[in-house]
Amino acid sequence: MTTKEYKLDNVIASTKLPPIEVRHRDLKRYGDSAFKSECPECNTGLLLVGRDATTFKLQKEDTCTYCSRKFIYTDIKEEVALEYISV
Ligand SMILES: [Zn+2]
Repeated sequence: MTTKEYKLDNVIASTKLPPIEVRHRDLKRYGDSAFKSECPECNTGLLLVGRDATTFKLQKEDTCTYCSRKFIYTDIKEEVALEYISV
């Protein structure tokens, strides 16, 4: 797959498209991060896996940093809270 050219109109259009269902485990990881993946839609942006800003719980929905296409992870256990281990 080649990298698509994304103009602003395309980015706006892609935010209105329904989310693509993907399995997080099937995506190509970016670097050595366990969470960051390469966007399968544009092959340029990253999917970072979101956390709720106040609770830090994992979010099932994600948006590409480049093409703004939305994704839904079908294999992520949502609402997993940030847990600390005792040290
Ligand atoms: Zn993308």
